[in-house]
Amino acid sequence: FNKVQPTGMPKPGETTTRGTSELDLSSVPLNGGVITRNIAVSLDPTMRNRMKGDIGYFTPPYVVGKPVTAIGIGEIVRSEAEGFAAGDIVYAWSTGIEEYTIHPAAAVPTFRKFDSEQLSNGLSITTYLGAAGMAGMTAYMSLKEIVGDLKPGNKMFVSGAAGAVGQLVVQLCHQAGVKVIASAGTDEKCDFVRSLGADESINYKTEDLPAKLKAFAGETGIHYYFDNVGGDQLEAYISVAARYGIIVACGYISGYNADKPEDVVYPKNLFNIVTKEIKYQGFIVSSFIPKWIGQFMQEVPKMLAEGKIKNREDVTFGVYGAEDAFLRLFTGENNGKVAVLIDTE
Ligand code: NDP
Repeated sequence: FNKVQPTGMPKPGETTTRGTSELDLSSVPLNGGVITRNIAVSLDPTMRNRMKGDIGYFTPPYVVGKPVTAIGIGEIVRSEAEGFAAGDIVYAWSTGIEEYTIHPAAAVPTFRKFDSEQLSNGLSITTYLGAAGMAGMTAYMSLKEIVGDLKPGNKMFVSGAAGAVGQLVVQLCHQAGVKVIASAGTDEKCDFVRSLGADESINYKTEDLPAKLKAFAGETGIHYYFDNVGGDQLEAYISVAARYGIIVACGYISGYNADKPEDVVYPKNLFNIVTKEIKYQGFIVSSFIPKWIGQFMQEVPKMLAEGKIKNREDVTFGVYGAEDAFLRLFTGENNGKVAVLIDTE
């Protein structure tokens, strides 16, 4: 549950709390909704933004005293929704970090049912929260929509490159023949992103990121930037961007725990977006899903099952581990997609 709005880093037990409910799930009114027995949930950095109250964000803020919701996969145990029956396994954006969730009727149109092929291709259920889930969709669909055809030989900078979204961006760009420089917060993560195909890596905590980017940019500049973090790294990219560079503005995690605008680092060289004619485009992945989900579900799970792309994940077992697992997104202690396996049997 969201107990109070956090200031800075959330504190398990203080800003979030645990609870139990004695509802009889066999008779609780559903009003057109469904109940799922939850198998796994995804923990995503943007959930921190939803703890800030109403900041005009695209998804509604969490309500203090109510369960924190996330993207999850569950088995329907009762349904009043047309097209969904007990036994169906669904991907649901309204899943609570809890064992059972009562989903309102309004949430049902965003459900996606798993087919037998997806459940039998050997991928773990948590992969469908990572590279084959929303994180993967974010990488795949934003590259398609915002960059379009990745041009072989062009250069890409990816920040947050060892994370859930970043690791797929690195692999898709490398496979398209793009030269990739990738940043991450530890040497081990840097080794990992190079093993995925990055040509160069930067430990942004210990190395001179602007200097390494400048060397990589050479005469041409860097054509694309996939921005997961914002702040200093965004500023450094703008300085070395090629003319007509493209920034895929995916996230700004360096500012998510800031409570006041003045605590967020913003680039001081934004005017270069004008002078270099840079395209700087933000997006919310759910806007791209209707157009790209078919192609994505055909291609990406297959590539994962065949080992053509990798998905490193950071899975916590049991619902009570969720609070600590969430913090790892902000300390950088996570290694890949953060997910919680609720059904551990
Ligand atoms: P990750 O798995 O990448 O985990 C977050 C990582 O961010 C950490 O491991 C850490 O890596 C890095 N990080 C944390 N704090 C900072 C900081 N202050 N400065 C720089 N890096 C930091 O998360 P996701 O892949 O799930 O998400 C990546 C980004 O994509 C987020 O910004 C998220 O909000 C965004 N996103 C946007 C979507 C959209 O629709 N626009 C959809 C999904 C995600 P390290 O050890 O390298 O520092």
